[in-house]
Amino acid sequence: MTSVFFMMNKELPNIVFATNNLHKLEEARALSSGIINILSLSDIDCHDDIPETADTLEGNALIKARWVKEKYGYDCFADDTGLMVDALDGKPGVYSARFAGPQCNSADNMALLLSELEGVAEADRTARFETVIALVRGEEEKLFKGCVTGKISTEPHGSAGFGYDPVFVADESGLAFAEMTAEAKNSISHRGRAMRHFIEYLTK
Ligand code: IMP
Repeated sequence: MTSVFFMMNKELPNIVFATNNLHKLEEARALSSGIINILSLSDIDCHDDIPETADTLEGNALIKARWVKEKYGYDCFADDTGLMVDALDGKPGVYSARFAGPQCNSADNMALLLSELEGVAEADRTARFETVIALVRGEEEKLFKGCVTGKISTEPHGSAGFGYDPVFVADESGLAFAEMTAEAKNSISHRGRAMRHFIEYLTK
């Protein structure tokens, strides 16, 4: 991971991104350069373990953005993502990060997903990633969404990315996300799409 040092432009509004994920922070800064200054949680000295206790993506994104606005006074945005698998009635969904248990890692989550889909035919392995971004700015609260459809493969492919990337084959590329470059993935991904809706709104 490269440094997250960035140049603040005093003429632009400051907005906090309530995430501890440096990769997401850099991606958001690249997309919004010249439009807003994105501050990290550590820039505002927030080291809280912000709860994610809602049972929807919208709820969790709002909890995180409201937390920063209410406790620290900064305009803020936050995101939450889930992988919805049709053959599993939308699971793991909002619980994607901890599908295999509270202490699990991505390999555990993928192994559980593949085992739950054992015997399911390729045509029925349809899934989608959804991202919700919540913006809390002054009195305003607004949600932005992004989605990408695909299929869960029967085994992992590729080594890029994170999370479920090796088993999610995007319809638009025919490749697992883990086989794509970061740029190619961002151009079609759930989070890339939600971020672009968000940035577009800020530039209006
Ligand atoms: P988060 O809300 O962005 O932290 O995402 C929740 C969980 O969804 C992560 O821990 C990952 O397991 C999974 N996830 C989110 N985005 C992606 C992605 O782009 N590729 C693969 N897995 C993802």
